[in-house]
Amino acid sequence: MKVNACKECKRLTELDVCESCKGKTTQNWIGFVAIADPETSDVAKKMGIKLKGKYALKVR
Ligand SMILES: [Zn+2]
Repeated sequence: MKVNACKECKRLTELDVCESCKGKTTQNWIGFVAIADPETSDVAKKMGIKLKGKYALKVR
């Protein structure tokens, strides 16, 4: 199964277009973090994440 990461918000998705911000996605990404609750997650705040889900740490 291929997994893409959004170039804009880094959200992981199987789609070619991000369902969150409609940005383009790429398979060139490294590592990921799962955000369960963006309200209380320091990582989510640092990365500007507002929706729960899985996000790539680095997207090229
Ligand atoms: Zn996005």
